[in-house]
Amino acid sequence: MSTRPILVVFPHPDDETLALGSLLARYAAEGVPITYLCATRGGAGRNMGLPLQATRETLPLVREQELRSACQALGIKDLRLLGFQDRLLEFEDLEDLVRPITQALETLQPSRVYTYYPEHGYHPDHDTLSRAVVVAMQRLPEEQRPQLFGTVFSEAALAALGEPDLTVPTAEYLPAHLAAVRAHRTQTAAMIAQTEARMAQDPDFRAQVEENRRTLNVKLWLYPFGTQGVRPSALPKDEQRSVS
Ligand SMILES: [Zn+2]
Repeated sequence: MSTRPILVVFPHPDDETLALGSLLARYAAEGVPITYLCATRGGAGRNMGLPLQATRETLPLVREQELRSACQALGIKDLRLLGFQDRLLEFEDLEDLVRPITQALETLQPSRVYTYYPEHGYHPDHDTLSRAVVVAMQRLPEEQRPQLFGTVFSEAALAALGEPDLTVPTAEYLPAHLAAVRAHRTQTAAMIAQTEARMAQDPDFRAQVEENRRTLNVKLWLYPFGTQGVRPSALPKDEQRSVS
């Protein structure tokens, strides 16, 4: 991994942690500078914490503080909040979303860009922002274009995209990952409490969680610009040979 910066683009505080937390902690520990463009402050969320830690009015500020703590836990030093409205990205002018991404690409010249795999984000905000990333990157001359890696979080996406291009072992970075998960407390405290309670009562579940943690890794799919994201493995066999 080079020490050229990487650019991470997600719409919501917690996407970075839940999708890529241990990977980002690994890169940060290896000295890779990380810039994170977070499009919203997550103000439309329904979880206000358990016990209650926010109101509808204070939620964006609370989420921002949680995000800053999570970034600190992961080692992300350059967090940029773009200030768009949570759950409403699909109604924004796409160019308004593309602009800050283009600017970051031009000034940082990252080696890699990370977001949800376009059209497999399973949330309108995820897919809209991935689309903006693709548009911004497509406008770069091919030889200057960084690699775009997509993450997915459902079995259906996994089946549609085929085998990941990269599987990065990250178990060593579990502590930083869990610290970041905990930092997003309005979103994760209830889930963590449930998991811990079940682990205490159910030895099989506990063994499964521990096994998952021992073998923790992050899977990534490389976005092929030449086929607008259609992956070679998703094409009929006779077409696969012509796709590089
Ligand atoms: Zn999200």
